[in-house]
Amino acid sequence: MHVTAIVPAAGSGARFGAAVPKQYLPLAGVPILVWTLRALAASGRIDCVVLVTPPGHEADCRADILQPHGLTVDRLLPGGADRQASVCAGLGGAPVDTDLVLVHDGVRPLVTPEIVGVAVQAAATDGAAAVAIPVTDTIKVADGDSCVVETLPRGRLWAAQTPQAFRAAWLREAHERALRDGFRGTDDSVLVERLGYPVRLVLGSPENLKVTTMADLARAEQILRSRMGRVGGGR
Ligand code: C5P
Repeated sequence: MHVTAIVPAAGSGARFGAAVPKQYLPLAGVPILVWTLRALAASGRIDCVVLVTPPGHEADCRADILQPHGLTVDRLLPGGADRQASVCAGLGGAPVDTDLVLVHDGVRPLVTPEIVGVAVQAAATDGAAAVAIPVTDTIKVADGDSCVVETLPRGRLWAAQTPQAFRAAWLREAHERALRDGFRGTDDSVLVERLGYPVRLVLGSPENLKVTTMADLARAEQILRSRMGRVGGGR
């Protein structure tokens, strides 16, 4: 079973307020994106990596981020205006005969090889899988004036993370249909769901966080250091 990983890392980091995109910021001295790519490689489940960077960053990313850390990717492509467009660009670079495509955010550096393995296995069996964790907060739906419209029953709510893995044909069809319909989604699962294909949720981890704020970066650093302590000095 041939598996291609698409790593969308083309965000500008505008919400983060840093001068460089957040995927390049150091986490325990190593760029966030490097941790992400190392975790995918360590899973032993990925045959091809398509990395998507901000347009114009391709050469710098190779020279300044990948090469110094001894990393290579199979394709390095410019991304689009939003995450969906970037994943779509990445799909264009996936080998035509790949069986599964796994999408993993460049800014989720703490994913474990085990979680990658579980996502790949579930997609191989069921066709589509999204890593997620049960929600612990109570989720409200509000109107434009921040007035609660609905309180959702928590027992059935999950927070979706990445990786998300799919039969390649399903994901291609899902992106083509979304593009044609003008539908924009914040993950890939929703594009596949709207075609009626079943997506299995598999258990992720609160540690598999998306680095969105400075506080996330500090928390990620803490988690990483405690992991390094657990293995007696780190990788
Ligand atoms: O911004 P968001 O939380 O959706 O970012 C999730 C991932 O998508 C990040 O790794 C980010 O770099 C990537 N992204 C992208 N292209 C964009 C916007 C975000 O590849 N235009």
